[in-house]
Amino acid sequence: MRTKTAKVLVVEDEPAIREMISLALSSNGFESIGAESAEQARIQIKNSKPDLILLDWMLPGLSGMDLARELKADPLARHLPIIMLTARAEEGDKVEGLGAGADDYITKPFSPKELVARVKAVLRRAAPTIPIEPVEVAGLRLDPDSHRVTVLQKVVTMGPTEFQLLYYFMTHPERVFSRAQLIQQVWGNNIYVEDRTVDVHIRRLRKALEPSGHDSMIQTVRGAGYRLSTRG
Ligand code: CA
Repeated sequence: MRTKTAKVLVVEDEPAIREMISLALSSNGFESIGAESAEQARIQIKNSKPDLILLDWMLPGLSGMDLARELKADPLARHLPIIMLTARAEEGDKVEGLGAGADDYITKPFSPKELVARVKAVLRRAAPTIPIEPVEVAGLRLDPDSHRVTVLQKVVTMGPTEFQLLYYFMTHPERVFSRAQLIQQVWGNNIYVEDRTVDVHIRRLRKALEPSGHDSMIQTVRGAGYRLSTRG
């Protein structure tokens, strides 16, 4: 089993901003690597294979916009999601940024919280094109690529939220998560979700897993939250 930590390449020439972004990313469970120019970024993309690029528009030398165009024209790098960082707020520039192939756009100054929410949203949208290995626990198999859950090759049907919940549990087995943690992981920071919404989806997930007996793996830990466990 493999847990995938998304790796984000931060291309920004101002050290203070680069460090602020890196800190926000690492404290939210992302791996972050930095580059101070587009030229350095090219090397990092080859060597470190990031999952997403945060790309400053104004860079010394080759601009962020030029690098975005270059990457989107490269069959090996085309799939890489790009979020442009810029001080320019004009609508025309935004259109130009998206036209160059950027997947999203964030205007300085931005809060770390907003940045992390955007990164998560873009990664989620890009996820179907990133091949991720299936996970399996006690005969229950989840394939993130085909969005399928199976037991002995028989499909277990469930809603998209139950699927995301199960995926999170299966990649973090035997660990207890509070409702607040599950909300952050499954729904993201930018949406207001009540604790009891989590309970509703946990109930639905158990119901979906009931026919194969896997519902008992989704355990309630009194006063703490929920966990996936193969121990009773
Ligand atoms: Ca800059």
